[in-house]
Amino acid sequence: MSALMLILLLGGGAVLAVGAYWFFRPRDPEREVYYHFLCPSCSRKLRYRARKAGKPGQCPRCRTRLTFPATPIELRKEETNSGRYNQSR
Ligand SMILES: [Zn+2]
Repeated sequence: MSALMLILLLGGGAVLAVGAYWFFRPRDPEREVYYHFLCPSCSRKLRYRARKAGKPGQCPRCRTRLTFPATPIELRKEETNSGRYNQSR
């Protein structure tokens, strides 16, 4: 009985510790860099993590096996106000 209680207490403590670790863990959004590239089969714009570059993957749409390029292709930026920003002031 007491051993079971001890195990339950230890388990609860471990869960609390893990929860606190996850809660207080500093999140670094800059670490998660995403690249874009076009699927060679269905030409769908795919997004993959920078750490996946050069590694094999699969297109979620056409299920084509592919390798994420180490160097992302240059896609046209949707935001065109960067030039305007340089002009003003
Ligand atoms: Zn595809």
